[in-house]
Amino acid sequence: MQIIHDVPQLQSVIAKLKSQGKSIGFVPTMGALHSGHISLINQAAENCDIVVCSIFVNPTQFDNKDDLTKYPRTLDTDAQLLVKNGTHILFAPGVDDIYPDGMDAGMKIDLNGLDKVMEGEFREGHFDGVVQVVHRLLDIVKPDELFMGQKDFQQFTIIQYMIDLLEMPIKLVVCPIMREDHGLAMSSRNVRLSPEMREKAAILYKTLKSAKRNLKKKPVSEIIEKSMKKLSKPPFKAEYFKIVNGHTLRDIKSIEESDYIVACLAVWAGDVRLIDNMILKTKK
Ligand code: AMP
Repeated sequence: MQIIHDVPQLQSVIAKLKSQGKSIGFVPTMGALHSGHISLINQAAENCDIVVCSIFVNPTQFDNKDDLTKYPRTLDTDAQLLVKNGTHILFAPGVDDIYPDGMDAGMKIDLNGLDKVMEGEFREGHFDGVVQVVHRLLDIVKPDELFMGQKDFQQFTIIQYMIDLLEMPIKLVVCPIMREDHGLAMSSRNVRLSPEMREKAAILYKTLKSAKRNLKKKPVSEIIEKSMKKLSKPPFKAEYFKIVNGHTLRDIKSIEESDYIVACLAVWAGDVRLIDNMILKTKK
């Protein structure tokens, strides 16, 4: 595996590979890698000739300075894990490489309200930062396929919107949520949970499963109310539990309103913020 920090160097390596007819699969991450990330790497290796993974803790998507400071950074162990899993190139840029013209420059697009709900409501400017960094990374790497996790439902929905809007020639592949044995969705932030908290956090997955079971039996408003209650018992504090149209991310009142329905949640476990989701209804 090649570890590259420098943008021009990466671009010339990739241009050479493309001239040899190789397809490029790209997995952007913020590091502190776990099996969820590795599932994206594996999918990229299955679909493409070359797997490029980036590790960059993007300051512009953090609305909370403390969260940015406490975000785990484990580049050496991440690199070892990537080598073991067949990654060809690790791109680990610095802030100046990604934002040569400053952190206010870069792609800004109207996201048609997709960025105003759920995560966007509670983390102001978060998706402006996500669009800015993913656009810049795609511009540098120019992959054929981009791999993202369903774990960040709103994020991949927004990136698909951006790809369509800008007519970027990139296929977005969304990979399933990897969970710990008791159901907690894997996340780099989980290392900040005590073992006891980690065990108890199974309530997030249980609540999503129960919402799915009840979708045809109970009114949406009742499911939301009960879920909020379950997720607000100490040591947890629910920020939101939403049942939305998966296409528009707008709240739905009845399950007849859409062929694609998703439950999304954000919960504080002490000072750690966890998100999760589950597709409740889909045509497929
Ligand atoms: P992050 O490093 O948290 O920015 O995540 C990088 C990519 O990994 C994103 O596309 C995430 O959606 C994806 N990802 C994070 N956690 C999981 C998980 N538990 N299962 C599958 N994909 C995940």
